[in-house]
Amino acid sequence: MRHTINLWNFRAELLRRYLTPLKIISLSAVGGLLFLSFVLPLTTRQQQTLWLYCLAIASYIFIYYWLLFPRFWYQRWMPFLNIVMNVTLISGAYLLMGGLLPSMNGLLVIVIFISGIFIGSAAAYLAATTSFLGSIAVDNYFSYPTLYQTTSQIIHFLEFFITAYISSALGNLLAYQVSERQRQNEDLSLLLDASLTATASLDLNQTIPQLVSKIVAFLPVSSARIDLLEEGYLVPYGVASSRHGIERWLNLRKRPRLAELPWIRAAFETRQTIQTDRDHIELTPYWLDFTHFFSPDTRAICVIPLVASKGVVGFLSVGEVRKPLREPIDQIKVDFLETLANQIAVVVENARLHLEEQKKAKRLEVLNRIATIVSSTIELDELLRELYELLIQVIPADTYYVGLVDWTRKVIDLKLLLDLEESFEGVSIPLDQGLAGYVAREHKPLLIGYFQREQDTLPVKPVIIGKSRMSESWLGVPFGKDGHTQGILAVASYIPHAFDDEDLQLLMNVAQQASLAIDNARHHAEVEERARRDSLTGAYNHGHFLSALRQAVHSGLTNQRPVSLIMLDIDHFKSYNDRYGHTIGDEVLCLIVQVIQKQVTSNDVIGRWGGEEFGLVLEGTSPENALQIAQRIRSALSQTTLTTSHKMKIAAPTISQGIACLPLHAHTAEELVEKADQALYIAKVAGRDQIYLFGEDAPLK
Ligand code: GH3
Ligand code: MG
Ligand code: MG
Repeated sequence: MRHTINLWNFRAELLRRYLTPLKIISLSAVGGLLFLSFVLPLTTRQQQTLWLYCLAIASYIFIYYWLLFPRFWYQRWMPFLNIVMNVTLISGAYLLMGGLLPSMNGLLVIVIFISGIFIGSAAAYLAATTSFLGSIAVDNYFSYPTLYQTTSQIIHFLEFFITAYISSALGNLLAYQVSERQRQNEDLSLLLDASLTATASLDLNQTIPQLVSKIVAFLPVSSARIDLLEEGYLVPYGVASSRHGIERWLNLRKRPRLAELPWIRAAFETRQTIQTDRDHIELTPYWLDFTHFFSPDTRAICVIPLVASKGVVGFLSVGEVRKPLREPIDQIKVDFLETLANQIAVVVENARLHLEEQKKAKRLEVLNRIATIVSSTIELDELLRELYELLIQVIPADTYYVGLVDWTRKVIDLKLLLDLEESFEGVSIPLDQGLAGYVAREHKPLLIGYFQREQDTLPVKPVIIGKSRMSESWLGVPFGKDGHTQGILAVASYIPHAFDDEDLQLLMNVAQQASLAIDNARHHAEVEERARRDSLTGAYNHGHFLSALRQAVHSGLTNQRPVSLIMLDIDHFKSYNDRYGHTIGDEVLCLIVQVIQKQVTSNDVIGRWGGEEFGLVLEGTSPENALQIAQRIRSALSQTTLTTSHKMKIAAPTISQGIACLPLHAHTAEELVEKADQALYIAKVAGRDQIYLFGEDAPLK
């Protein structure tokens, strides 16, 4: 709808198009005159004058059409020069004929008429004026003014000016129609262009911004925006402005509720276009609607509902900062916008349907995939990762978390917490706090659409975890068996209304499956742990003990921290067995492991090396500290008695201990074992119940 059609250009173009016939007509006229000069009974003098005259016309034609026109056809003075020259030539001919051809006036009328049609009113009146002056001059050349002449001149005046008036009116009408047609064509092409843009992609976030910038560019308006209705809120999808600075003002994150905007709501209910200007609205409460949608300097606005088959899906709004009188949003613009709005509505509806279908398909796929993962993944960490990878595909959110409830410690351990793709580890939330705590305690899902608005009605106060920023929407579901919460699955977003009931259903479904999988994973972990342990004493078995030792040696070497190994052997256990029997011997073995366990931390590794021999790996422990620990074990054991099933009290046997340390005595696990064994042997030889640190002078008692 850009009014680029310049009537002047159109007329100049017209002249240019008919240039060749014009040249031919002019030259034929000269030829005709030359012919007349031979056939008419003229005197030689008259004949010569006529030839001179023909020469003048021919040179004028040559200068005008061959020299001036090609270079200056687009100049405004060109046709005016032509008019003046034509009138002069006709008057000249009239003069030459000495009043012989009074119908020369007819030629002047033709000049005036053509000027009016092709060049416009100014040209027509110029032609009329010069023709009138020319005719007076010619008349007065031959005689003094008579009453007859004056009367005929008045008639000429009327004739010329009426012709000018009629021809210019006709010319304007013609030009207007042409321009109107051209404008309609432009409208159509914009409409076509806009609809092509709209239908080019089903991604509304891409098409709508393109569309609004086209509207601003083509239809001169200061700003245009498209807001779509989502769950009763107006979500801006595209905002464009022809002026700098407006974008900054138009806040795309602002999402007003439709119910709060009475005037936009009226457009929603009536499905009618609303048009108003600042002066009309400034004193009413509707002013708020105005400020929600437009920059403060906007003066006139138009809001068009996007009506699809299911109802209004959004609004197309345009604003103008110029005064309504200077740049009105007139009916033509409104008609155009309404047509466009209909198209946009269809596109929005299609895009949404398409999205819905896609979402459904994706959800099904994810549910299937989860079923596979559940039956195939037994590692808990891996399972949680996989769950997250799937969730991000179907529920777009900023924060994802999976927590397992520890009912004894009364906390939710977050096994996975990702906030804006940043991972947070080791976070736990007290069970009696926050939304996650609420979901776990109540074993009920919770969906919060808009924190800021629902703050007062929330059942609990939210706690900020992850990034120190408050989310706007939240969705959490519990999982577990028989009403007993094992854990929670939650998502959060910094955008309001990021989740809906369908997301809730999906998350519930996922949580149910996850619960099975987590059970499996836990069970698997338990079995694995059992396989690592010695079935009698519960200490690690030989194989796992050795690999734990190797790992400790490796990390000790890389981190340059000491590692101590104590090898322990029960003294005279054979005779102990012989005396009390193997069952009691077994109980003693268990007792000894318990005694050792009490003297060390949970990070230290106790293993049954074989028979009645044990090993103890102490990471980060110096030889001196290892000695102290060994002494603690020895003295604890000396104070321990075993009560048999027959209520018989038996003193625990003594043990001998050999200690070797990394990096002081060894650099590999094997070397460490060898040195500790050698130390143990020395302790035995020295009389048992001894502690010997490799390389020392004598064992410690
Ligand atoms: P020393 O002070 O030299 O270590 O004497 P010892 O008798 O403890 O040494 P020896 O290696 O000769 O004997 C180990 C005994 O440990 C043999 C076996 O009867 C007993 N034994 C090994 N494993 C078990 C077990 O699992 N249960 C019981 N009850 N006894 C075991
Ligand atoms: Mg022994
Ligand atoms: Mg032994």
